[in-house]
Amino acid sequence: MTDLLQRIADLQAEARTALSRVQTLAELEQFRNVYLARRGKIPTLLRTVKDLPSDERRPVGAAANTLRRGLEAEYLAARARLRARGVRPFDVTVPGRKPVLGHLHPLTIVRRDIEEVFLGMGFEILDGPEVEEPRYNFDLLNVPLEHPARDLMDTFWLTDGRLLRTHTSAAQARVMANRTPPFRILIPGRVFRHEATDATHESTFSQFEGLYVDEGVSLADLKGVLGEALQRIVHQRVDIRFRPSYFPFVEPGVEVDISCLSRRGSHRDCRVCKGTGWVEILGAGMIHPVVLQNVAVDSTRYRGFAFGGSIDRLAMLRYRLTDIRLFWSGDPNFLEQF
Ligand SMILES: [Zn+2]
Repeated sequence: MTDLLQRIADLQAEARTALSRVQTLAELEQFRNVYLARRGKIPTLLRTVKDLPSDERRPVGAAANTLRRGLEAEYLAARARLRARGVRPFDVTVPGRKPVLGHLHPLTIVRRDIEEVFLGMGFEILDGPEVEEPRYNFDLLNVPLEHPARDLMDTFWLTDGRLLRTHTSAAQARVMANRTPPFRILIPGRVFRHEATDATHESTFSQFEGLYVDEGVSLADLKGVLGEALQRIVHQRVDIRFRPSYFPFVEPGVEVDISCLSRRGSHRDCRVCKGTGWVEILGAGMIHPVVLQNVAVDSTRYRGFAFGGSIDRLAMLRYRLTDIRLFWSGDPNFLEQF
């Protein structure tokens, strides 16, 4: 019964707020339709009173009736007030109000461009859950139990033992565990890190993960696919270089750099590439045979490569941004520039 009384009190507060916002007779009629008309919220509530147990019927019915009478009186008073104010003449010469048109978020623009490029290269676009099991985020990817990435500092753990995925590679493991090769797959999505934010680090950002598994796939295929794709994504000619690196789920692993696009000529005091002329853009490598075995893919027959990159970082490069936090700031001054 207390639930119902609470609902009546809430409904009263809600209706009062709605009424206080009414400016015109048309809005007032709308108010009446929502709350007081035959199918309105209050008569609907009153109709349920007769089905209550007899000891509840009286107090609930009384409260609902009081609410209805009170609101009806306020409605009539508001109507009298608005009518007295008179009707303003309609001026057909006043310029119309232009509705504000929304537009895509810069991260969405870049994500769709990336998807477009890989679709054109025969990749399939897939999605994975943001709340993930440690099995897919770590275990199947050959991330050892003692690996620092599992630390509380880096991962948002849920109380039920699951986590917010720290990379889109989690979806990679999921896809491989549930499909049979060959496959070419791109998985874009949000990922989460439990870490302090600064101009280049955010606790939420977006990645894209690519996966290519077939017979006879080699590192040369990886270089060919990435070279072509990156060129199309940044819309200009770029050089690409591989540097050896370590990720537990690939062997060999590489960091992929592209030539710095921030200016022509010397990059000696360039803030984007810090004077090197190269910008790190992706991590990649040949999928580790242990990972293939973990997801029951025959590693004697199939080989594959995987790559992962930050959509935020590509967007920063494209739009020459220096602070990653702007993306989630919700600041209209920033968003209106795209
Ligand atoms: Zn540079």
